[in-house]
Amino acid sequence: MSVLQYRSTRSSHRLGSFQDILLEGLAPDGGLAMPESIPRVDAAELAALAQLPYPALAAAIMGRFADDIPTPTLAAMTAEAYTAERFGSPAITPVSSLGMEDGSPLDLLELSNGPTLAFKDMAMQMLGPLFSHVLAERGQTLNILGATSGDTGSAAEYAMRGRERIRVFMLSPEGRMSAFQKAQMYSLQDPNIINITVPGSFDVAQDLVKGVSADAEFKARQQIGTVNSINWARITAQTVYYFAGYFQAIRAHGLSLGDPIDVAVPSGNFGNVLSGYIAKQMGLPLGRLVVATNENDVLDEFFRTLVYRPRATEQTFVTSSPSMDISKASNFERYVFEMVGRDADRLAALWRQLASEGSFSLAGTPAAEAVRASGLVSGRSHHAARIETIRRTHHRTGRIIDPHTADGVFVARSHLRRGIPMLVLETALPAKFNETIVEALGISAPRPAGLESIESLPQKTVALPADLQSLKALLAERIGAAAA
Ligand SMILES: *Cc1c(COP(=O)(O)O)cnc(C)c1O
Repeated sequence: MSVLQYRSTRSSHRLGSFQDILLEGLAPDGGLAMPESIPRVDAAELAALAQLPYPALAAAIMGRFADDIPTPTLAAMTAEAYTAERFGSPAITPVSSLGMEDGSPLDLLELSNGPTLAFKDMAMQMLGPLFSHVLAERGQTLNILGATSGDTGSAAEYAMRGRERIRVFMLSPEGRMSAFQKAQMYSLQDPNIINITVPGSFDVAQDLVKGVSADAEFKARQQIGTVNSINWARITAQTVYYFAGYFQAIRAHGLSLGDPIDVAVPSGNFGNVLSGYIAKQMGLPLGRLVVATNENDVLDEFFRTLVYRPRATEQTFVTSSPSMDISKASNFERYVFEMVGRDADRLAALWRQLASEGSFSLAGTPAAEAVRASGLVSGRSHHAARIETIRRTHHRTGRIIDPHTADGVFVARSHLRRGIPMLVLETALPAKFNETIVEALGISAPRPAGLESIESLPQKTVALPADLQSLKALLAERIGAAAA
């Protein structure tokens, strides 16, 4: 049996197997890794998958993409990552009802019951054992360098804390995160977690990371890597909960395997909804995939007009659903690759046009029909809609939803199809964004047990000036010291 090979979106360049691309970022030609073909699941396999508990389901689905890892090894990893203790219930991603809306059941797929209260844990917790395995096999160590404005950094730290062969250097903008988010990250005392604060905004932190990455020699010598949203293992780990959510939804509504459901996804970097698209391509009977954006509506503009026009960082709005404040969706390239019929030359030409002209349009091309057939549709939310949706949901169901999830619910309501369940992905718990909850409801969101007084724990950070040489010196010192 031959092993699934990966290739770049921008050339037919071969990138190797799953483990070969696991620790890599961009392909040498600047493209992203994609499997040579997307594995298919037939009706009989779907029926078998529907019977599996979450860890076994994750091993079965990820095994289709990571077929260079022995099945028992992969199953041990998913069993380690997805425990009822860590995610609060054996379902790992339970579905709960928000009632009926215009004749359609509206449900929530809870993806945020992991250690950092956001859906990033779903993939990141799996990267922990995956990285440990590959690094041990190859006798390597990895220094993960990243910049965060909140969710990604904390999810990475909680997944990697205490792991041999792995160190995390996470830059965050001093004073720009909520007290809760800071406490979550900065209270970690594990020696392999290094939180670095820099003055200014997220972009300052991001630019410093890019500065380090631009020095390929330094990066290779210090064994520096990333876990950003283009990481293919994260995408595959996220396809699993679309299956889990589908099976639960059809059971809850007395439907049969094969009946469609629609899904709404609060979106930023397009990673989450791309995973849904991949699940659909595998054969999961998803109907519409609703891309919900906030005021940063580049993706909504694309699905309305077929014009993709990413914005500059200065034109990115600061909103009350901050984890979606993104104007250049890094995973979108993978979707467009599929829409142009996997024609890497065409894809590369589009991205050259993006670089020279700032936009491209698929209108009037064969790709336009592919976009329509893909089932992706979109909508845009905004602050007043978000607040009103949090209020309305609380009033009708007693449940408090977070601002990002509220964007999903708001946009989902304009795409309902009578009788077809709409599953909205809950991408964070409200406790993480309590300022907006208080604004909407006048009360605080409940804190999960054990996190009631996280702000009073001692915090450990390294403060650096916004200066590339200082960062490189710190990295060299810490990495060198540990190696000696
Ligand atoms: C990261 C994030 C998103 C956006 O997800 P993408 O995969 O980047 O589209 C939405 N909501 C929350 C709470 C997030 O942390």
